[in-house]
Amino acid sequence: MRPFAEKFYSSAAWRRTREAYAASRHRLCELCLSPADVVHHVRRLTPNNIHDASVTLSWDNLQLLCRRCHAEQHAPGGALACARAPVAFGADGGVCPPCGAGTFAHVAPALELKFYARRKKIRERGPG
Ligand SMILES: [Zn+2]
Ligand SMILES: [Zn+2]
Repeated sequence: MRPFAEKFYSSAAWRRTREAYAASRHRLCELCLSPADVVHHVRRLTPNNIHDASVTLSWDNLQLLCRRCHAEQHAPGGALACARAPVAFGADGGVCPPCGAGTFAHVAPALELKFYARRKKIRERGPG
């Protein structure tokens, strides 16, 4: 973790936000639907925006990712993770800066069905 962000990541406001956001996404990766526990900032945190709640705490700027997709987002060429994502493109929604892919709010109906089927499976058998 970069030092300027340490205080933010240990704040109660962030912990509450990340928990509520993860729950709202059913703890599934927004890119691949694997069980996920990383709440990622789409617009990266910098020393200049770390005190701007519209960047740090706004759900519009958050994305729930599994560790693999998160690592890919931060790797050079991170757009690869997005190119693979079966998401629709939403003009009014959050978009991934490298590739312009829409966020989970704008998934195609087919993916939505897949998501609910998967969630049902996880509820029945537990993640994995
Ligand atoms: Zn993933
Ligand atoms: Zn991240």
